Amino acid sequence: MLDRAVAANGGAEALRAVDVVRLRLTGETYPRLQMTTPAPPFEGGKFEEILLVDLENNRLRLEQKAGGFGFDADNTVAIVDGEGSAYDNRAKTVTPIPAEQATQQQFIQYHRRLPNLLLRQALDRTNSLRYLGEDQFEGRRHEVVSFVMPDTQQVALYIDSNTGLISKYELIFVDSLTGEEASEIIFGDYQKVGNYQVPRRWQNRVAGEVNADYVAQAEINPAITDDSFRVAAAGYMQVKPVPTTLEEKVEKLAESVYVIHNVAGQNQNTLAVGFADYVVAVEAPGSSDGADAVIRRIKELFPGKPIRYGAMTHHHGDHIGGMRSFIAEGATVITTDANRPVIESMAGAKQNDRLGRDPRKPGFLLLENGKRVLQDGTCRLELIDIGPNPHAREMVIAWLPAEKVVFQGDLFFVPNNDAPFGSPQPSTASFARKLKELGLPVERIAVVHGDTATIEQFKGATATAD
Ligand SMILES: [Zn+2]
Repeated sequence: MLDRAVAANGGAEALRAVDVVRLRLTGETYPRLQMTTPAPPFEGGKFEEILLVDLENNRLRLEQKAGGFGFDADNTVAIVDGEGSAYDNRAKTVTPIPAEQATQQQFIQYHRRLPNLLLRQALDRTNSLRYLGEDQFEGRRHEVVSFVMPDTQQVALYIDSNTGLISKYELIFVDSLTGEEASEIIFGDYQKVGNYQVPRRWQNRVAGEVNADYVAQAEINPAITDDSFRVAAAGYMQVKPVPTTLEEKVEKLAESVYVIHNVAGQNQNTLAVGFADYVVAVEAPGSSDGADAVIRRIKELFPGKPIRYGAMTHHHGDHIGGMRSFIAEGATVITTDANRPVIESMAGAKQNDRLGRDPRKPGFLLLENGKRVLQDGTCRLELIDIGPNPHAREMVIAWLPAEKVVFQGDLFFVPNNDAPFGSPQPSTASFARKLKELGLPVERIAVVHGDTATIEQFKGATATAD
């Protein structure tokens, strides 16, 4: 079966003769649980990637440009002789890549970009090669084989019974919202390039939904020189590597106002605000386990007080992945109307966590006319929808007027290293305009991903936005 697939692709000798690959992918992205709205019709993002990989000498150059969802990215990665650098062509910075990410192991993932390289891996990994049986895909009969790649990733290849070409491969992963899911990379519109059959269509589906839809242009063994892996970066600023682990910490912003950093997960924060009789948690990032750890911290900070509300800034997966634990804790979810079905389906999903063991339906307190205020004699917390933001149409910030603190997600970040802010992202520019419009006397901006910023830092970073 594998021999047929190999033969359909020019034969084993031809596959083993693949030393250099240049692959250009262009098209649209629809990242799961990261769209601007919680339900279709979705606004897609744009993506372009040019990968040049020299498998013989472990050299790589990867150029990626992406836009949409309130962020523009233009990055280049180059790895030569086990040393790598990441270039941010927007901010004009160069960051060294940690040695462990510049090793030979790093190159294995790129074998999954093209069926030709996957097949060659399968030929070299016969110890773990297994026949899984027959299956239908896009109405055609396929033979399915699986094997384990050197980075321990198991893949299942779907070989078209008629043509011997690979129609897709699958990876199995655990989705924090819905449990075990397949990620499918679909190859189609094969064309002959030299000895090889290469796909023109490259699509990723996650949990059955299209996540990326690209046109692929592959060159096999194009002419290269040492210069092909050099990046022109005159005038770029050299910055320190981003730390690989961020410390768990509880930051006290004011009496009864805390940001719990990196407990829900790496680079994932929750704001905890104590009222006279209860606590409000704003944001439930990470997973159920991560949220359980956050809830333990909140109980240490506010002994004996129930967590009555769990609010969220927006519906993205990394911002609500821990909400099930807050629901299990008995918290009422504060959000906008359109996000209600997302939380309901997430709460109803099969998961092995507290809510799974003791299911209950979530209660809701919805924003009305873009606002919800919680107040007692000790504290006032305003949840304000400042959307539409290019990152998410409905985007809520938490405002503490007495403390002059705003808590927000994905609208502004302080870099984790010494990198400059760079020109403001569309999501940040929109946020800055809204803050000005609202006329809030903000002094500090606390964030879901990263460290709390001062208003001076924010003004400096957004000075070039109007
Ligand atoms: Zn987001």
